[in-house]
This record gives sequence, structure tokens and C-alpha cells, in this order.
Amino acid sequence: MNSQSPQLLVVGSVAIDWIITPRAERKESVGGSATFFAMAASYLAQVRLVGVVGGDFPPAAVADLRAAGVDTSGLEVVEDGKTFRWKGQYHDNMNDRTTLETHLNCFEHFAPKLPPAYRESDYLFLANIQPRLQERVFEQMKPPRLVGLDTMNLWISIANDDLRSVLKHVDVLTLNDEEARQLSGEHNLVKAARAVQKLGPKNLVIKRGESGALLFDHDGSIFSAPALPLEEVVDPTGAGDSFAGGFMGYLARPGVEPNGASLRTAMIYGSVMASFCVEGFSYDRLVGLDAATIQRRFEAFSALTNFERASLV
Ligand code: AMP
Repeated sequence: MNSQSPQLLVVGSVAIDWIITPRAERKESVGGSATFFAMAASYLAQVRLVGVVGGDFPPAAVADLRAAGVDTSGLEVVEDGKTFRWKGQYHDNMNDRTTLETHLNCFEHFAPKLPPAYRESDYLFLANIQPRLQERVFEQMKPPRLVGLDTMNLWISIANDDLRSVLKHVDVLTLNDEEARQLSGEHNLVKAARAVQKLGPKNLVIKRGESGALLFDHDGSIFSAPALPLEEVVDPTGAGDSFAGGFMGYLARPGVEPNGASLRTAMIYGSVMASFCVEGFSYDRLVGLDAATIQRRFEAFSALTNFERASLV
């Protein structure tokens, strides 16, 4: 990748999490939607990150992002402020989780201001933050080639109007199955997807944890990507954001045109990066990967769904 490569801008949370799983606990676990996204996408594309942290954010984490090639010049540091903090506990199935605490801290007064060069980024991912902030970022951009957006149950509940407003600009929306049901009011996922697409997003990805992910394309077709059956899931936090990082990262590669076929390939790179993410706490497992390791896992996904064509007629 060089300076001519397409630029992928992510705006989202950069956080310190407190993670409790049935088997382990980590109190100061670096997280945040933009952090996981950027780490995962950095293997595929040139990534720029916009977010805010307090003086308590570990400089080593910023160094990790930089070492991965992420441009962190858009990361604001409020020296006398505190970083966004989230505490979550996973249930025995390692899929469902309960949010125990959310402290917005310096996010409460965050007004994202994009450096001039960032406004011309080719690809934009609005990772999970308040929908009003997502819209503010979008308004500052020269229209990107593709806009992706992620959100969560909290914003569907307390900022529904703001969310509906920003959804009008979105090419690819990523939601988990419960969020799709909550936003649409439909239990059946196909009906839920159609209802969500009517709100604006041309394409919709529904993430289903260990059941994989579904792509509802702009032309009405559906594609299913499996999740890799793993022997051990250490910490699912960030799986959705890593998925989005792999997905958008692939689409932002030089020479890749966003279309029905490339969206499907992007689904697999998303699944690959999510599968690495859950193998460790925080972004531990996303550090130090290389193209060959990522590609081997991509082939493992391919093998998982490769079957001989047959016919009874
Ligand atoms: P995921 O597991 O992909 O859904 O993302 C988990 C990350 O989302 C954690 O690292 C949290 O710090 C972050 N997060 C949790 N709640 C919020 C929120 N309300 N706004 C923004 N980010 C959040």
C-alpha cells in the first residue's frame, strides 16, 4: 500500500473495557469500536482513525495502532479527561452478554472535527458511537465511495430518530440479529432485513455470532458466511468491529470495486478477522498477524463451505 492507495476513515469509540467471561476477567482491557475496526482493517487497507481518549489511555495502545500502520493523528487526547469505559459480562454460551456499566466520560462532549485531508477519505466507516456524532462526521465529508455504519441496542432505544436520520446515507449497515429485530420490530430476520433496508441502507449485514453472518444485498439476494468453528473463544468483545474492519478493509483495497461479488468476498475477510479477534482478550490476537496467516484462514473458510455440486434431476 502506498500514498495513492484508497484511504479508509473510521470514527468510533476508543475505550477501556472491563471484561468478564465465565472463565476469566480483564479489568483494563483496551477496546472500543474504532480500535478493533482499525486493528483488523490495517492488514488490508490504509486506515485513519478519529476518536477521543482521556489522559488515562495507555500510550502503548496508541503505539500498537501506529505499529499496525494506522494513522492516529485524528485521535484527540483530553489530558485532564477520562477515557470512555464499558463493562460487560458474557453468559455461559459466550455469545450473549450483559452491559454492566457505560461511562461516556470524554465522549460526552466530543465534537468530531475532521482534519482537512480526512474529509476526502475514499471510504468511511461510522463505528458504534452516538448517531448524532456519526451524522456530524458524515456532514464534513466529501461524498465517499462507500459509507458503512454500525450501531447498537442502546442507540436504537435512546436515539432512534438520530439513528434513522443518519441511516439515510448508508451503503452498508452492520447489525447483530437482536439489533435488527429491535430496529425493525420484526422477529423473522428476512422480514427484519427488508424493513431495515427501507430505512435507507442499501446493503445490510446481520452478524449472528457463532452462527456467522448474512448479507442482504441491494438487489434482494442473500449471502451467508459461516463462522469458523473454534475450539476456544477467549473474549468475543470486538468481534463485530473486527468483522467490519475486515469487510471494509477488503472493499478499500486498490482495484476492488464495491459490487455484489466483492461484498461477498468482503463478508469472508470480515469473518476471518472476527475469528482472530475472539481468540484473545482485547485486540491481542490481532497484533502481529501477517498476510499469509490471514490468507490461510481465508482458505479455511472456503473449505468449510466447499461441496461437490450434485443434482437429482
Ligand atoms: P463489539 O463486541 O464488536 O460489539 O464491540 C465491543 C466494543 O464496543 C467494546 O470494546 C466497547 O468499548 C464498545 N462499546 C460498548 N458500548 C458502547 C457505546 N455505547 N458506544 C460506543 N462503543 C461502545
